[in-house]
Amino acid sequence: MSETLSLPIPIAGPSITDLELEYVQDALKTAWYQNANKYNQRFEARFAAYVGRRYAVSLPSCTSALHLALAALHIGPGDEVIVPDLTWIASSAPITYMGATPRFADVDPQTWCLCPRSAEALITPKTRAIIAVDLYGHMPQYEALIALAERHQIPLIEDAAEAFGSEYQEKKAGSFGLASTFSFHGSKTMTTGEGGMLVTDDPDFFQRVLILRDHGRHPQDKSFWNQEIAFKYKMSSLQAALGLAQVERADALVEKKRAIFAFYARELKHLPVQLNPDFSGTYNSYWMSSLLLNPEVNHDKESFQKALLAYQIDTRPMFYPLSSLPAYERATDTARARQDNMVSYDLSPRGINLPSALSLSEAALTYVCQNIVQIIGEAQ
Ligand SMILES: *Cc1c(COP(=O)(O)O)cnc(C)c1O
Repeated sequence: MSETLSLPIPIAGPSITDLELEYVQDALKTAWYQNANKYNQRFEARFAAYVGRRYAVSLPSCTSALHLALAALHIGPGDEVIVPDLTWIASSAPITYMGATPRFADVDPQTWCLCPRSAEALITPKTRAIIAVDLYGHMPQYEALIALAERHQIPLIEDAAEAFGSEYQEKKAGSFGLASTFSFHGSKTMTTGEGGMLVTDDPDFFQRVLILRDHGRHPQDKSFWNQEIAFKYKMSSLQAALGLAQVERADALVEKKRAIFAFYARELKHLPVQLNPDFSGTYNSYWMSSLLLNPEVNHDKESFQKALLAYQIDTRPMFYPLSSLPAYERATDTARARQDNMVSYDLSPRGINLPSALSLSEAALTYVCQNIVQIIGEAQ
């Protein structure tokens, strides 16, 4: 890590090297005509090998990947899909795109991810899928979730947008359930600017996704012969070239994220706060180093963020429970969710994401920690 302090301190952002420049420039020059697809193919193959899946489809976003996954499962009006309450709205919005209803389950205090018991309590005859989310790089208890999904014959989808490089019981994030989805938004651990990926081991599901993302065209049909109305979800070759360079640098990206977390863990350990929990069996790639304020600290997340912003330190609030958002006001019973999803409603008001950008220097992390120590010292 370099030693210069430059303000403001960003919350998230990528690491770009000469390799990315080289591949994108090459794509710009050569990925046209008969080579138009070469970077998409190389990126998909490399990515599938990295996460340990048979098939990968490069897409414009993780939102579109989840949309396609639900469409490929024929989910529609009258169906219910279980999703954790504590996540980004992109995990659940595609449920509504399909005309189905999201059911918000609580998270587990040890993993911050979907609680298998809470998910099971929401299963009804209408439940058509379970979406588990690898929140901030954490992993849910997948052996319990997979057993649950099998027992009830409900497909499990893994939203691994935040967990590139994490592992659970020595299997990579992106290898759990019927299909897994990734985001390569500029804030994520690896980026293509905007972008996403769907991965699966199931050949039929893979074929169905390829048709749905290409305006309903079947690969064996004559040209321009659309069998159904579907979607147009593709990643450009320039983005795929950037993604290929990033996935080739996966170990360096994940190492840096883990070094940032280790720095916070060391410097903040005496404070009345908790950082990301360390659940056994998980290798966490710490997309976001996160902090929970203990009750004796006289701040909620929003006032604490404001105090840090006065020192030009950018942070993010831990996600608000989806069931508490105006967007879901009509679709959920918020009072009921507040009772049922006690862990989500406990974590959210006192949680923030700390600066976790891949560009952060040791000087920047030192500056952040000094200011956190001071602000918390004044607020007890
Ligand atoms: C970022 C994110 C997404 C959405 O990714 P996009 O590429 O922006 O569509 C989905 N789920 C989670 C959990 C995310 O953090």
